[in-house]
Amino acid sequence: MAQLKAVFCDVGGPIYDDENFVAAVLVALDELRAADGMPPTDRTAFRMLYDRSRAAQGMSLRAALAERFLGSTARRDELHARTREHWAHPKGTLYPDVIPFLRALRGRATVGVLANQEEGVVRALERDGVAPLVDVWAVSAIVGHEKPSPELFRWALAQAGAEPGEAVHIGNRLDTDVRPAQALGLATVWVLRGEAPDDPTRSSSPSPTWPCAAWTASHPGCSS
Ligand SMILES: [Mg+2]
Repeated sequence: MAQLKAVFCDVGGPIYDDENFVAAVLVALDELRAADGMPPTDRTAFRMLYDRSRAAQGMSLRAALAERFLGSTARRDELHARTREHWAHPKGTLYPDVIPFLRALRGRATVGVLANQEEGVVRALERDGVAPLVDVWAVSAIVGHEKPSPELFRWALAQAGAEPGEAVHIGNRLDTDVRPAQALGLATVWVLRGEAPDDPTRSSSPSPTWPCAAWTASHPGCSS
């Protein structure tokens, strides 16, 4: 990398616990099932499907959940809409390494969130003291583009005034973070938590620039 000008960060996984999304999907599934006279979602079966999706890093979790628990993949959009109503980032679910990391970047690079999230994520990041450390808000619900579309990445790069080769994207998924960012020429950090697989293998990895479980405050590399 010639010069690091911009650091972009996914939200679910790197910043907030992905279990916030899981909780919202489960409430949505239970509500939709109750409306059809069905009992609550089997948590064990849900977790098996969710873990399979994490291991695959590419399958449509929404479609698989709709088929398994609502009877048809055609209900995926209905499930998505209901999930959005319940998706929030409660106090206490911010990872403790986020603020020290972003503080260390202050004055060294433009920082952006780059995430498929609802607008409410801005208020959560304000509440948790992260917002003052963010310069660029590439939030899908606000910008109108979703990862893995290159449009959201290009929008963030333009806002930051950076070329792809001067930027790094930090995310926890291969399909919506590492692969699309690499395709555009950004460096990548694959944060192995939340929706990332428990056991990433050489074959599942597209060789992110820095695969890691967390990052240090001194540079966007790895602490483990
Ligand atoms: Mg994520």
